[in-house]
Amino acid sequence: MATQIKDYYKILGVEKNASEDEIKKAFRRLARKYHPDLNPGDKTAEEKFKEINEAYAVLSDPKKRAEYDRGETIDFSEFFKGGKGFSFDFGDFGNIFGDIFGGGFSTNQYQMQGEDLRMSMELDLVDAFKGVTKEITINRAKQCQTCGGKGAKSYETCQMCGGKGTISSGKGFFRSMQPCSNCGGSGKRIKESCNTCRGDGRIYQTETVKVKIPQGVKDGSTVRLRGLGNAGIGGGQSGDLLIDVTVRPHPYLKRIDDDVYVQVPVTFGEAALGTKIEVPTIDGMAMMKIPAGTQGGQKFKLAGKGFIDPKTKKRGDQYVEIKIVVPKDIPESAHKAIQEIESLYRENPRKGWVK
Ligand SMILES: [Zn+2]
Ligand SMILES: [Zn+2]
Repeated sequence: MATQIKDYYKILGVEKNASEDEIKKAFRRLARKYHPDLNPGDKTAEEKFKEINEAYAVLSDPKKRAEYDRGETIDFSEFFKGGKGFSFDFGDFGNIFGDIFGGGFSTNQYQMQGEDLRMSMELDLVDAFKGVTKEITINRAKQCQTCGGKGAKSYETCQMCGGKGTISSGKGFFRSMQPCSNCGGSGKRIKESCNTCRGDGRIYQTETVKVKIPQGVKDGSTVRLRGLGNAGIGGGQSGDLLIDVTVRPHPYLKRIDDDVYVQVPVTFGEAALGTKIEVPTIDGMAMMKIPAGTQGGQKFKLAGKGFIDPKTKKRGDQYVEIKIVVPKDIPESAHKAIQEIESLYRENPRKGWVK
């Protein structure tokens, strides 16, 4: 912890090598002086009294004192902070004290977020474009219904604190209360573990859930579905489900960023005379005009026919590349007609090339 650790010896006004008795005497003297009952409404005295108690709680315990001397003691003031007078909120402190004092987590006082789960999914390009809802089967930890996630079948009253959840130390007037380390401040301990979950508070279940893959998802991206991972422990949040998406190649359409590319084969006649043809797009088939005199390799843009960027909602374009196909195995009888077409070329298409 980054916070400055307080000097508890200085707070009690004793030497580092003070005996247990000296510490006790110093504490009593100061506690009497700064006790809130003797200083009503005095904030400074109240703060001072808290500090003294804090220092005494550590230095009066040989084990904690040794840890403190080694510099291992966590800054207790963090945990004493926020208490109104001395009525600490043990609901919150339970966990922390359980940690510090090595108390058992017998009543499931601690919370832990559930683990994330990961799976992969293949989509076709059209589903990736539109977004899709898919049913998937996952095996994930869910809160045990039998025990409500507590892991207990039955409880018993904590022996150490008698069910109060706190333990008092010191005598009479100067008693201070500390959360019970045996029960983490809850006052009870698990007697028998839940049979269904064996005390874990969770059970693994295979279930079918519907997951929504958003519009425009890219190949290789990961979709995070909040809360669909394992259930948390002790009321902790559920983890997420991560879906690694692979987009299967489309037979004609190719995606680059948010644009789509397609090669469209046309006949010599269609390219020479012009026509209207249907071309595949991510939205389905679309009519497209091929102007007369279109050349092989020429590209046309179908504006706004690409993918939708999930963030900007801007749509990419589709680029259509013309590919002129020529019939194969042309019979002798057709040669004359083709030669007539040849005569229509006014110049050599490779004119200007180095010989
Ligand atoms: Zn207890
Ligand atoms: Zn259970």
